[in-house]
Amino acid sequence: MLSQRTWEAALGALQVEVPKADFAAWFRDARFVRAGGREIVVAVPTVFAKEIVTRRYRELVARAVSTAHGGDVDVTFVVQAEPPAAPPRWLADSPPAPAPVPRAAGTSDIRLNPRYTFERFVVGSSNRLAHAAALRVSERPGSVYNPLFLYSGVGLGKTHLLHAIGHAVLARRPDTRLRYVPCETFVNDLLYAIRTEGQGERLRRFRERYRAVDLLMVDDVEFLSRTEASQEALFHTFNAIYEAGGQIVLTSDRPPREIARLEARLRSRFEVGLVADLQAPDLDLRRMILHQQAEAAGTRVPDDVVDFLADRITRNVRELEGALTRTLIYAELHGLDLQASTAEQALSGLGRAAADRPPTTDAILAATSRHFDVPQDDLLSKRRDARTAGVRQVAMYLMRNDGRETLPEIGRFLGGRDHTTVLHGCAKIERRLKLEDRLKADIEAIRAHLADGS
Ligand code: ADP
Ligand code: MG
Repeated sequence: MLSQRTWEAALGALQVEVPKADFAAWFRDARFVRAGGREIVVAVPTVFAKEIVTRRYRELVARAVSTAHGGDVDVTFVVQAEPPAAPPRWLADSPPAPAPVPRAAGTSDIRLNPRYTFERFVVGSSNRLAHAAALRVSERPGSVYNPLFLYSGVGLGKTHLLHAIGHAVLARRPDTRLRYVPCETFVNDLLYAIRTEGQGERLRRFRERYRAVDLLMVDDVEFLSRTEASQEALFHTFNAIYEAGGQIVLTSDRPPREIARLEARLRSRFEVGLVADLQAPDLDLRRMILHQQAEAAGTRVPDDVVDFLADRITRNVRELEGALTRTLIYAELHGLDLQASTAEQALSGLGRAAADRPPTTDAILAATSRHFDVPQDDLLSKRRDARTAGVRQVAMYLMRNDGRETLPEIGRFLGGRDHTTVLHGCAKIERRLKLEDRLKADIEAIRAHLADGS
């Protein structure tokens, strides 16, 4: 019979098959929840852990459990229990780096933004893992998490972290051959090399340019889906660098699995290292970023202005910074005091921009159902057990805050409920959000999926 024992046996097998650091990171806190029929449910502590184990290890885990059980078993991961305290354990358990290999000084084509350093990257729960991984890679390029693949929606710090890795690596080893390119540049370079006369020579130069490097950073690799030739080129570039012990860091607006028309072999290359995401910053982080930016600009911004901006702009750090800049300029131009009302005037007319494509009720229902692993039909039904009701309230909250429908419309959509029920549900979530970080992370994860169109 499927039981906790089955899970423990499977875990023993996984410990052997999964690299030590990864096991510590993703499986040490995994717990058996229940089993029934041909399914076993396992809890992991964070949304992020769930994404990783589902994406990277589901098949392996299913195989291990099936073997332990002696028959086919499906595995479902759910999020339960609090996230582990920082620093993440996987950092502590990472394998030691081999001795550095001396390298000849080479050409670097450095165009790094001087502002994008680790010192100026503010860390919060939404970006802690990506930041830690980037820092780690910069300390030991080529020996941990290769490639490092960072993804997030726009304006959440991917490019900043890439440049920060570049700065840190060069500070330590100035002779590092480093190349940072937006993927678009990579693709254009390649197309140019292929198209022009005397292409043998151009292609040779293209290869040299991208392969003879110790650290290659390609920003926004979702651009690869444009042409097969560029995927082919990146694949070979990747292998050459990897085999020579170099480090590769990639970013994208979505995980490798969701990049359209990406060849399987390239995708699996992308996934052999660490795939980490950055989520929308929570309120605290938004405040800290604003304070830091004000300080960097040599001004002190009153708390009520910071609070106003942090409250108003929630999904994109670039917009957040833009709003502060706009407020400072507006106050100066009009000779106004820096206060919340000034910020409000400065931003009037910008408010709609973030909500230009509100998600539909259907999309929210689907994304919420998928995230919490509760069937859509249950959410639309009369079921009122605590879990179903709680998840339904999250859907209400998202429809109310991010969607375009009115309260009565939301109520009708969600199984013919009264608009006061919806109002009550939203209020409940608002209260819980003040206390539960995990709920915040859940909601942001759903938002990220909605923004991705996934
Ligand atoms: P992405 O590449 O994900 O679209 P960027 O790296 O370009 O985002 O970041 C957008 C802007 O926000 C940049 O100016 C960057 O410095 C800033 N930024 C993003 N995250 C942070 C952070 N955690 N701390 C400080 N600045 C940040
Ligand atoms: Mg970017």
